[in-house]
Amino acid sequence: MSSSVVVGRRAALAMLVLSASVASGASASPSVSPGGVAAPERPRIEALRCAPGSAVCRRGELLAVLGSGMQGTDAVVFLGGRGTRDDRLAQPSATDNVQVTVQVPNGAHSGRIKVIDRGVGAARSSTPLKVRAAVRPAAPPAAPPPAPAPPGPGAAPPAPGAGVFPIQGAHTYGATASNVFTGRGGHQGNDVFAACGTPLVAPQATMVLRVAFESRAGNYLVLTADDGRSFAYMHMREASPLVKGQRVAAGQAVGTVGDTGRASGCHLHFELWTAPGWYRGGEPVDPLSQLKAWDGAPAPG
Ligand SMILES: [Zn+2]
Repeated sequence: MSSSVVVGRRAALAMLVLSASVASGASASPSVSPGGVAAPERPRIEALRCAPGSAVCRRGELLAVLGSGMQGTDAVVFLGGRGTRDDRLAQPSATDNVQVTVQVPNGAHSGRIKVIDRGVGAARSSTPLKVRAAVRPAAPPAAPPPAPAPPGPGAAPPAPGAGVFPIQGAHTYGATASNVFTGRGGHQGNDVFAACGTPLVAPQATMVLRVAFESRAGNYLVLTADDGRSFAYMHMREASPLVKGQRVAAGQAVGTVGDTGRASGCHLHFELWTAPGWYRGGEPVDPLSQLKAWDGAPAPG
């Protein structure tokens, strides 16, 4: 079995299989050995698919690049025709081991797709993607530029109790030393246990800052509120269906409880970061009182 991988060379060929059966991320396990981090896997593209299931993409739609070793993808290039003039670079909105999700850029043309992992290498699809014009140019842009709105001078922070508890189902607060907040660089959040598959929702109106997979955090999501605070959800069962830059309403579904990454038992690892947010100058703070305030708040109508 050849293990050759296409690395930026037009002539090179890899044994790529166009198959839609690779789809479900639920059945795939990240290449992480317990107690250690495995050597980074080179990316490899096996199929291209546009939501919902079509092999043809319209500009502005989400493209799923299926394969393996994809979790470190930094950028996706829509190669278009010959030469580099019509190449279009896009940032993935979500990545995990077997899939990269990316919005087809406005200027993209039909052609092969290349994924780039700056630390490991690149891979190119064996087949071209067909790109068509957006359905209605007048339609509102699918993804607003992900510029976090700084808190306005008159913007009052929401009352501590205002919001929705992130877990929509039975739950218990972890109380061991490894479950509670111990500060930056330690356990930066609080673990709340619930059955795998229990729906997770946004506590407040927020914007999606990050959807990604990481060997310890598993599938994780970071939301940023208008006041600059961030909420991080980790160990989610599947990658969140949300995309970076997307606005999310309080109570909107963001994924489900899981045990991906380094997790013992199904639980939500929840982090609360002060403005200006998660790894943007903010600090993680103990989220327990905020979680309990939301937990005791009446459910939204
Ligand atoms: Zn935790």
